Amino acid sequence: MNSEQVWSEVLELLKLRVNQQAFQTWLAPTRLFNMVNGTVQVAVPNNFFADWLQHHYKTEITSALKAVTGRDLQVEFLVPVEGKKPVVTKPQPAVAVQTGTNTASQFRLRSRYTFDTFIVGESNRLAWAAARNVAQNLGKVFNPLFIYGGVGLGKTHLIQAIGNAALARHPGLRLCYTPAEVLFLELIQAIEKNTRLEFKEKYRGLDLLLLDDVHYLVGKESLQEEIFYTFNALQDAGSQVVFTSDRPPKDIPTLQERLISRLGSGLVVDIQPPELETRIAILLQKAKQENFDLSEDIACYIANRVRSNIRTLEASLVRLIAMHSLTGRPVTTELAEAALKDLIQHEDPLDPSRVITAVAEHFQVPVQELKGQSRTKRIALARQVAMYLMRSVLNLSLKDIGYHFGGKDHTTVMHATEKINELKARDPLFASQIERLSRHINNGS
Ligand code: ADP
Ligand code: MG
Repeated sequence: MNSEQVWSEVLELLKLRVNQQAFQTWLAPTRLFNMVNGTVQVAVPNNFFADWLQHHYKTEITSALKAVTGRDLQVEFLVPVEGKKPVVTKPQPAVAVQTGTNTASQFRLRSRYTFDTFIVGESNRLAWAAARNVAQNLGKVFNPLFIYGGVGLGKTHLIQAIGNAALARHPGLRLCYTPAEVLFLELIQAIEKNTRLEFKEKYRGLDLLLLDDVHYLVGKESLQEEIFYTFNALQDAGSQVVFTSDRPPKDIPTLQERLISRLGSGLVVDIQPPELETRIAILLQKAKQENFDLSEDIACYIANRVRSNIRTLEASLVRLIAMHSLTGRPVTTELAEAALKDLIQHEDPLDPSRVITAVAEHFQVPVQELKGQSRTKRIALARQVAMYLMRSVLNLSLKDIGYHFGGKDHTTVMHATEKINELKARDPLFASQIERLSRHINNGS
């Protein structure tokens, strides 16, 4: 393998291991500059890049290099001087590709994707519990385990956590983690090169098969066939299989049909979009990993704006950190808003603070009191109206709403919405005021 190939392999591996946004921002613009005496020099666009990669991705890059070359190579980031060409075509010391070491990176597992770093909330508790159970009892419970959920909700994280945990328990484990897409490419290659037997053997000798994103199989009959037989063989041998998908098995018709008898011994679990508290916890954890001092206020601000995709949530934070380090601007809601700007055009821009401000204005009560504990009649009513509007206009969960009022219990919120519904039914004037308030919040008019 020449050094250019090494680097492109490393990038391929990193593409699987870091999130897409981070990959596009930080890794895609890199090139191999030179490889001398066990040091890989990577050309980057500017010094900030060099710094960022050094602090945030060096370990990932070194481990990917090790996975690709089998050697412990050093990495250096440099900004090439204008006009000076990278020296990649010169003869390089041969890099031996070594296989057979049983490390997580060799299995394309990201070391960060563990159960410890997975924040658990109502939305993902069942999937998390099932995954942990499977990792501790390979082939004995829930076989196959089928995890489905929307984009960026943690499916890859969970399936890889199973791999990492199982490997930690059984270092000699024969496991394979692969996105269905990669499997498909391998199968095509095997057909072209007439190595289908090796392909079969590779997959049928496994203790644990982690097949990510099986919705990719929709319409790919030949691959479904292959997987079906492989899966049968694995299950008969007592091996564990885990699938993830963006939809339930019933929406992958042929797979469903074929798995159906087998699914009797298995479990299908879904992951829902995370509730507010979980989103905040994820942001705070991520900030901690990056050694970044993130206040709960800013975390709450971002978590309120990015609701349906954890990848985007993380990307927002990465962007905020970058903007802060690049410009030295303090981390305020304004900076957070700027960081979010292009990332969340698909998200609903309404945020709960708008409800709070509108209600506080309407009832002429201070925001702090509205969010506080005061039980005076006027404030209590205003608070119930605000809770009601968060539910009806923003569609927030009872739990999330409680959070905005100092961590009130969901039954309090439920009681508030029922009370306002009753009042509306009894008093048309009150009903029309509420109607006006909703419109005001919805349109900002
Ligand atoms: P999917 O495969 O469902 O599209 P990923 O597993 O790639 O989503 O998750 C996207 C990002 O969000 C990853 O960086 C992952 O670590 C992070 N993530 C998702 N769910 C959680 C969670 N519950 N706790 C911590 N991080 C999470
Ligand atoms: Mg995924």
